[in-house]
This record gives sequence, structure tokens and C-alpha cells, in this order.
Amino acid sequence: IWRSIIGGSGFIASHILDTLLDAGFQVAVTARSEEKGKRIVDSVKPKPLSYVVVDDIAKGGAFDVAFQSEAAFDYVVHTASPYHLNPIDPVKEFLEPAINGTKGLLKSIKTHAPTVKRLVITSSSAAILNPANHAKVYDETCWAPTTWEEAMEPKKAYKASKVFSEKAAWAFIEEEKPNFDLAVINCTYVFGPIQRNLPSLDAMNASNHRVREMVQGKMKEALAPTAPVFTFVDVRDVALAHLRAMTLPQAGGNRFYVVGGHFSNKQIADVIRKSFPQLKDRLPLEADTVDDIPDDVYHFDNSKSREVLGLEYTSLERSVVDTVQSILDLTPVS
Ligand code: NDP
Repeated sequence: IWRSIIGGSGFIASHILDTLLDAGFQVAVTARSEEKGKRIVDSVKPKPLSYVVVDDIAKGGAFDVAFQSEAAFDYVVHTASPYHLNPIDPVKEFLEPAINGTKGLLKSIKTHAPTVKRLVITSSSAAILNPANHAKVYDETCWAPTTWEEAMEPKKAYKASKVFSEKAAWAFIEEEKPNFDLAVINCTYVFGPIQRNLPSLDAMNASNHRVREMVQGKMKEALAPTAPVFTFVDVRDVALAHLRAMTLPQAGGNRFYVVGGHFSNKQIADVIRKSFPQLKDRLPLEADTVDDIPDDVYHFDNSKSREVLGLEYTSLERSVVDTVQSILDLTPVS
């Protein structure tokens, strides 16, 4: 039996957890409080799961407790990183937890976890795309040219946190030559079923917000613009990507750009109208909406993820239907 620890308890982490448990792994997760840890354990019952409280990854040595209190791990997955909208303090809210959290985890593994063979980090397409001057086609060789000055702009802080934390991870591997290797998942904007351990829709992860808002009727007057992101991936594909990146020997030392396809808010609304007639009145009429994907939209090359990780991507329709259903399961529409 392989033992794995997932650093983080959010949306993507919950699907990685399901995927690892289904594959027969023994898993531990880190959560920021006892309450969150217990909620996650309950959400996977009767499957066994342990948790470790790591309240703030920005603090030096935050992850040490996970490796000192738990049995030896074979693999580590790092998904904990702030992802929300409208930050006020870019350094405190994004850069410190993302960069110090990643560096601290690498150091903790090197110091306390000699059995670990591989670390998989959830980076982002944010570390790949250059919105100021889009490439025609993006792949894993592309890096966002974000500067430290831009990192101080609240609107660019999230992107910068992903660029600088991923760079810090590769630099650590290069310089420290630790006992483990690294694989990175650069997923694009993620849709998919919300996690079962969610106490309410208010606690929902950021990238599913537009689907939630459509379900709640908040875009009835008009759909919000789709920009700036026009590509999506289903969270279950992202979870499988992490599992395969963890276990396939040839995945080590690689980044994987994980993208399912293009999307627009109109396409999402059209899927909801067709599959959930009871929500029709919460959306604008189909004839009143336009597809706002630009003609010169950037393209993506996901062949490495398909060839090395064997991913087959879920359609937008399936992803949206399952997301909406998971929202209705938590809060039924009368
Ligand atoms: P969530 O917000 O659901 O998950 C983020 C997780 O990070 C939460 O468990 C959160 O804990 C934890 N976290 C944040 N800050 C801290 C901190 N200071 N100390 C400890 N834990 C912290 O979002 P996702 O699941 O969507 O995101 C997970 C990862 O995936 C992130 O690295 C994100 O950048 C990346 N990603 C996400 C994409 C998306 O579209 N969803 C796209 C590309 C990459 P808590 O909730 O308790 O605060």
C-alpha cells in the first residue's frame, strides 16, 4: 500500500483525495483546523483517512508536524495556495503563503521525510499564460513573464504567486538535489462537482462561482463577460492528472499543461438551460446572449498530458451538468 499526503483541503484537493482513495492509497490530508479535518474525514466515510492540522503554510516549518506525527509517506501532493478574488494585501494574502508555503514544504520533506519519492505541485496555467501578449499556442515550455513589481498589483498577485512559487520549487530541486523529484500540474480554470465537505455555497471555491451565480439567478439580466480566461478543465481530470503525475516514473521532472477545451459563459448557460429546465427562468434567454470567445483566442497544446499522463478530457457539457447537480444537491431549488 502506498501512502500519500495531500497538503490542502480545498476543491481540487477533495477530488485528488477521492481519486487516491479509489486507487487504494492510504491518505492523510492537511487542514487548517480540527473542524475542517473532521469534516473531510466524515465526507469520505467509511473509507479511512487521517488529517493533520497545518493552520498557516506561510509560517516557517509549518509542514514539519505532518511529517513528524505521521507514518512514512511515499508521495506528497501540494494543493494548498490561496485562490480568491479581490485581495487587498498581495504580499500577505498571496505571495507569502504561496511562495513560503511551497519552499517550506520542500524543506520539510527534505529534512523529515526521507521515504518520499515524488512531490506533485498544483501550479496553474497562470504560470504559463502571458495575457498582455498572448502566444498563438501555449504549451509547457511557456512561462508567464510576470515581474516582482507586477506581483505588488492586487489584480496580478494571484498570477504572480503561482509563477514565483512554481519557480521556487524547480530551483529547490535544482539546487538542493533532494531525495525526491518533482512533477507540476499547470491546470487551467477548473469546473466540476463542489466538494462534499462544504458547509455552504458561500464557502465554494472561486473557479465554480460563475456556475453558482447562474444557478442562483444572479446573471439573469445579462451574462458576465467570460474574459480573461477562455479555457477550462474538469476537476476529475485534474485529480487524475495528479495521481498519474505522482505514480508514473516518466512524469518526474515535468510540468503538465492540463486543459480540456475552450468555453464561454454563453456555452455554460446554454448547457444549464438544456439540462435543467427548472433553472431556465434564472438565466437570460438564449437569443439574448452572445458567445464572446474572441476570434483570435489563444490556443493550447495538451498533447503532453494526453501522451504521458494518458488523460482523456471531460466535455464542457458533462462538467457543467455535474457541477450544477452538485450545487443543487447542497441547496435544492424549490
Ligand atoms: P480552494 O480555495 O478550494 O483551495 C485552496 C486551499 O489552500 C484551501 O484548502 C485553503 O485552506 C488552502 N490555503 C490557502 N491559504 C492557506 C494558508 N495560508 N495556510 C494553509 N492553507 C491555505 O481552491 P482550489 O482547490 O481551486 O485551488 C487549489 C490549488 O489549485 C491552488 O494552488 C490554486 O492556485 C490551483 N489552481 C486552481 C485553479 C482553479 O481554477 N480552481 C486553476 C489552476 C490552479 P482554507 O480553505 O482552509 O483557507
